[in-house]
Amino acid sequence: MIDPFGRSITYLRVSVTDRCDLRCTYCMSEKMTFLPKRDLLTLEELDRLATAFILKGVRKLRITGGEPLVRRDVLSLIDNLSRHLETGALEEITLTTNGTQLRQHAARLARAGVRRLNVSIDSLVADTYARITRGGDLGGVLDGIKAANDEGMAIKINAVALKNDNANELADMVAWAHSEGHDFTVIEAMPMGEISEDRYDQYLPLSLVREGFETRWTLTPLAHRTGGPARYVRVEETGGQLGFITPLTHNFCEGCNRVRLTCTGQLYMCLGQQDKADLRAVLRQEGATDAMLAAAIDDAIARKPKGHDFVIDRPGSAPAVPRHMSTTGG
Ligand code: SAM
Ligand code: SF4
Repeated sequence: MIDPFGRSITYLRVSVTDRCDLRCTYCMSEKMTFLPKRDLLTLEELDRLATAFILKGVRKLRITGGEPLVRRDVLSLIDNLSRHLETGALEEITLTTNGTQLRQHAARLARAGVRRLNVSIDSLVADTYARITRGGDLGGVLDGIKAANDEGMAIKINAVALKNDNANELADMVAWAHSEGHDFTVIEAMPMGEISEDRYDQYLPLSLVREGFETRWTLTPLAHRTGGPARYVRVEETGGQLGFITPLTHNFCEGCNRVRLTCTGQLYMCLGQQDKADLRAVLRQEGATDAMLAAAIDDAIARKPKGHDFVIDRPGSAPAVPRHMSTTGG
């Protein structure tokens, strides 16, 4: 699949639920309204749509949400999709998770062929973690990471840089991750969906974070990309990899290779734009064929926009898009 700007689309992110057991302050409001369960694609429908993308050339699948591990039977979806790993049609299935349920699911994820995980942790101070996530238990997440590690999965820690919550802690978090053998990626807060706080009070440009890191370490830029939007450096003193995802200070759209499917079957061709394609409607038409699905996917890719333009430059501004990251699938 080639989009109008010549970019090859080989990466699909699938949000399997908009629900979550945490309520991170930059992601959701405290009293979040979730979709009625009847609106969600069934696991069979998710499998059929993901397979349609794989037939069209998607090589990498990321399962996300909301919190993917709170959806009942998500493991059987991953088990089934792993047949595409066996045929070689798919290079990898990965998962982005908050890690709260990782301890009990790590072994089965590994058996299904998941070799890499992204785990989101925005603080290593238990109280700060609990405040950011509105009640999360850091110890349980660390146990989950250990379980995944013991299963041989590579782990990347993701943290959103937050001016008032973790700005002073980020370098120590990188040092911890690298000492445990994990890569680390730091992310700018994006203006997606209404939350209870003002994102202006949270947003911390990564240009400043990087300057802080450079007072402590030597950072060597790497050519290495994982198929995602991060730009990587090696921290010479720790030997570990450090990624920067900078949707605000340094737009990365020119290399965009991905599209996102929501748990209701809406395909978003860009994280920061509103245009979408209703693939559930196609799927649920009587006698929907694979050719009809393929045509609907082609039609959507032909509308993929050039990029997003997120800004957080003044207090009280409205989000760039009304939907939350948890709906689109981060
Ligand atoms: N619940 C899982 C988790 O937290 O990893 C998966 C879904 S979550 C939406 C995926 C990623 O998006 C997480 O790393 C999270 O920190 C990030 N995220 C959520 N809202 C964001 C926002 N407004 N700006 C930047 N990153 C955000
Ligand atoms: Fe849940 Fe992930 Fe959003 Fe936090 S970032 S509220 S864990 S979906």
